[in-house]
Amino acid sequence: MFADLHLHTNFSDGTYTPEELVGHARRCQFSAIALTDHDTVEGCARAAAACVAAGIEFIPGSELTTEHGGNELHLLAYFVDTAHPRLLRETATFQAIRQNRIREMVARLNDLGIPLDANAVFRLANCQSPGRPHVARALVQATICSSLDEAFERFLKKGRPGWVPKTRMSAVDAIALIHEAGGLAVMAHPGLNRTDDVIPDLVAAGLDGIECFHTKHTTRIAERYLMMADKHHLLVTGGSDCHGMSKGRPLIGTVKLPYTHVQELKLRVSQKKSSTTNGPH
Ligand code: AMP
Ligand code: ZN
Ligand code: FE
Ligand code: FE
Repeated sequence: MFADLHLHTNFSDGTYTPEELVGHARRCQFSAIALTDHDTVEGCARAAAACVAAGIEFIPGSELTTEHGGNELHLLAYFVDTAHPRLLRETATFQAIRQNRIREMVARLNDLGIPLDANAVFRLANCQSPGRPHVARALVQATICSSLDEAFERFLKKGRPGWVPKTRMSAVDAIALIHEAGGLAVMAHPGLNRTDDVIPDLVAAGLDGIECFHTKHTTRIAERYLMMADKHHLLVTGGSDCHGMSKGRPLIGTVKLPYTHVQELKLRVSQKKSSTTNGPH
């Protein structure tokens, strides 16, 4: 039995609908999946319904864009209450920031003489949580760039002329928010950040787990973070970070997390729930 705990849909910058994603999960024979769209939980209701129909266990989640010490880091939230009022308020704030950032990026491109319309990006994104991949797709659609990579290389990568920095939630606040919403906080793809020195701070703030298995982690990197998990008593997670067809090929199925890790996550959630209902000692 295997799980994929890092998946995106068209509720952020993935290309699959929740139903299409669950169809792929069924074909890959996953026992459990989590949906982790950027700064939103909106796709979870549809993914949950599709999972019921497909006989797959569903874990509601999100990937929150956060920062610590000036470094961007992504926090995966698992088992959160998707109707939690403060979680919805905070994610709505960051969705508005994302939308304003799209307008700013398009304005910068317009200043360079590139005739892109922000509304074309929003139409294409058709979601509350748009990001740079949508701008890249709009640039390709308008035949200004011939590929998404070219769009990032020429305009959208950090430091390029169309790039705009993003206001992010503090990682420590995000961990507290995830806990308040009944969830577990997990550091996403640490091997891509190269900021391991933040891990002790996050552990002190209540970090629950670390994503050891990820498409872009080599076996060596996975082993490095398994040791880190052991050292800090963190839960171990993993997922493909599949964005549908937006990154060339669908990644779902390339990372298979043994289901025992899901059982450990569930055990931790239930322990936390019983400790809060029983009060402090
Ligand atoms: P944003 O959240 O708006 O900053 O956009 C980040 C997203 O852009 C992430 O999903 C990245 O994987 C994606 N991204 C970054 N660089 C590239 C690239 N060269 N080609 C395609 N997608 C990229
Ligand atoms: Zn993404
Ligand atoms: Fe990420
Ligand atoms: Fe992701």
